[in-house]
Amino acid sequence: MLDICFLSLLYLHRYSPNGWLFLKVPKVITTYCPRCKGHTEHSVSIYKHGKRRTLSEGQRRYLAKQEGYGSKRKPEQKRFAKVTKKTVLKLKCQKCGYILHRRGLRLKKVELVEVVGG
Ligand SMILES: [Zn+2]
Repeated sequence: MLDICFLSLLYLHRYSPNGWLFLKVPKVITTYCPRCKGHTEHSVSIYKHGKRRTLSEGQRRYLAKQEGYGSKRKPEQKRFAKVTKKTVLKLKCQKCGYILHRRGLRLKKVELVEVVGG
């Protein structure tokens, strides 16, 4: 069962046997680069957030407030409505090295695949 979404003709959407949507993304796609002002080849990777800096102002303030006896700064989240997170694709222009992020869909699984003649 393979259907191509109108949003992004480059991506192959597919339903896995247990019903969850997963996505196959080609490793290299041709898309618009704002610096080159034209379509160039971009290498694709999945964005991952960086490590929290413990010495940043906000984090220090948060930890100070969290200290001692009393309530938490923010309520603990006990139930989650969503089971998936939105994936962000990191596209790097192979011509100039400009990196742009592309906000993704809610997916359980993202796979980078090599597409021949894509
Ligand atoms: Zn570029």
